[in-house]
Amino acid sequence: ASLAPNGTTQTVCGYCSTGCGLRVHLQDNVGINLTPTTEYPVNLGMACPKGWEALTVLDAPNRATTPLLKNASGEFVAVDWEVALREFTGRFQSIQKDYGTESVAFLSTGQIPCEEMAFLGALTKFGMGIKHGDGNTRQCMATAVVAYKQAFGFDAPPYTYADFEESDCLTFVGSNPCIAHPIMWERVMRNGCSPEIIVVDPRSTETAMYATQHLAIAPKSDQSLFYGVARILIRNGWIDQKFVSDSTDGFNEFATFVDDYTVSRVAGETGLKPEQIERFAETIHERKRCSFWWTMVVNQSYQGVRTAQAIINVALMTGNLGRPGTGANSITGQCNAMGSRLFSNTTNLLGGHDFANAEHRKKVASILNIDAERIPSEGSWAYNEIMEGILKKKIRGLWVICTNTAHSWINQNLARDILDRLDFLVVQDMYHDTETAQMADLVLPAAGWGEKEGTFVNSERRFGVIKKVRRAPVQALSDFSIFRLIAESYGCGEMFANWDSPEKVFQLLKECTRDMPCDITGTADYEMIEANGGIQWPLSEGVTEFDQERRLFSDGKFSTPSGRAKFLFEPPKSLSEPVSEKYPFVLLTGRGSASQWHTQTRSSRSAVLKKLYPIDPFVELNPSDARQLGIRPNEWVIIESQRGRMRAMTLLTRSVSAGQLFIPMHYEGTNQLTDAVFDPYSKQPSYKSCAVRISKD
Ligand code: SF4
Repeated sequence: ASLAPNGTTQTVCGYCSTGCGLRVHLQDNVGINLTPTTEYPVNLGMACPKGWEALTVLDAPNRATTPLLKNASGEFVAVDWEVALREFTGRFQSIQKDYGTESVAFLSTGQIPCEEMAFLGALTKFGMGIKHGDGNTRQCMATAVVAYKQAFGFDAPPYTYADFEESDCLTFVGSNPCIAHPIMWERVMRNGCSPEIIVVDPRSTETAMYATQHLAIAPKSDQSLFYGVARILIRNGWIDQKFVSDSTDGFNEFATFVDDYTVSRVAGETGLKPEQIERFAETIHERKRCSFWWTMVVNQSYQGVRTAQAIINVALMTGNLGRPGTGANSITGQCNAMGSRLFSNTTNLLGGHDFANAEHRKKVASILNIDAERIPSEGSWAYNEIMEGILKKKIRGLWVICTNTAHSWINQNLARDILDRLDFLVVQDMYHDTETAQMADLVLPAAGWGEKEGTFVNSERRFGVIKKVRRAPVQALSDFSIFRLIAESYGCGEMFANWDSPEKVFQLLKECTRDMPCDITGTADYEMIEANGGIQWPLSEGVTEFDQERRLFSDGKFSTPSGRAKFLFEPPKSLSEPVSEKYPFVLLTGRGSASQWHTQTRSSRSAVLKKLYPIDPFVELNPSDARQLGIRPNEWVIIESQRGRMRAMTLLTRSVSAGQLFIPMHYEGTNQLTDAVFDPYSKQPSYKSCAVRISKD
């Protein structure tokens, strides 16, 4: 009875981009338990294990509870906020004085609310004079952002989750929603259209097991596959001529380009049978509402942007956009990656604006009531360029907020060596012992999800409100409060004098979106968002009647100068690191379970989640390869690449083809192996294409 709740409140989950509604049960305004919200239009009463366990991880013993400063012996000493702020400001300002304002940079996250990421972006760039900052969204969504911007004129995922239920043909490309986005997958399971489910993935993933067609292509051959499919569609006249001529540019050039992608050529490049490729194209033609969904296997690639656009091209040429059950649909990763795309102030100026556009700078400056001269006229360096900048001593101070670079960045040995070279590293996190925090000179203790307020934007562009249902432990503060303290300490507090609550910042951000494709000026306040079960962008001022589920481009108009979408294409490249005699396996990486999250800093703090997922690293190996190498099931092995090595337990499975290995990304050793190559347009790292070898331990 002592644990009986006496109230509830509605919030949104803080793990993945699905953005499930959670009802938190309160005892005297403190969250003690939760259940998925039945009436929330996203999850309809469902949640995955991470959502159910969202409150548990707040009680972990390794929470950062006080600022920690490293002493001369390399040991952390607890200090108060006054000392921490003096150190933060003194060290960063001294570096900026000696080496220029650009010599300090920041790396942030898609895990904090819009209001906090906007505060960080504005504080650093307009207040502290920092030029370069990027988010861990570079590791997951940058490719989709660039692909959409180039093709549609704005970073605009067009779909709504109802499309999972209304599509009669769903193609998942390098996407495993069954475990990566389990509630989206539940929406697919509710589809009553007897849909064809096509999975394009080298692995027999959990999703592929449900597929009516599984196209187990050779790694990184998806671009060729979609060009080959486009050729078949064109040759058979299976295209939507009206949509192509009314709403697109560049189709004729594209048709000429793909004419070289014969079925036999594509079969050779993908390893598929010709009839599989032909059947895929026929299915797209036969079905009325085809939707194409992609995630990290496409985005995390040295040719991600053109691969995403190869998918977009097929949707455009068949008129599968803007109608229920259709779309070329990137599924986001983190809970607020979509918010970061609009409000992080890194690649884009606040509200999806362009730093290089003087009118945009003027508009944002006037809304924020700051001098337009304070807004830089170009965007930041990307994550990899910031890491290179450290290597070249152009960047000497780094502030890392709510991300775990020393675990998650590609080619981990090199990444750690780079972080080691910094003159001053500050890590702001809710846990004091992440791999990156251990390398820091100063750790700032931050509140986590559940201990602060703000908004997240989910994959279908839906704003949702998150609530404070717990007090952050001891001296830990919300990132929002930390930014306010730093603004004061750095001497630019005046600029942010009226940024005194997340909701006030939301009002500024709302104004920044005015007349942009992501316009949300019709959204009054948090209360209105909550009352509507979240609100998708756009919602312009004056629009009072709107549906809960809305998709983009139903009028066939895009945000390019011509108002038409563009066909974009180029020849695919071969594997960035081909296999060799010394390193004969291709390493695939990805999510390993619905119960773990990224570098496990949060999810490993739940005893329940840990039971659902092996603590020891494992590697999937095809039984025929195991036989040849004399390797047994559940045996410790060493996996090595040119860059590093890791130990893992074998899981023999036909889910991977001979010549391929799969290791989940959640383990610390995985990025010992990966190769630091990047997409040339999005600068997104290619996590899934390096050469390795495997041997008995
Ligand atoms: Fe949270 Fe994503 Fe799980 Fe929903 S699917 S409960 S948003 S982690």
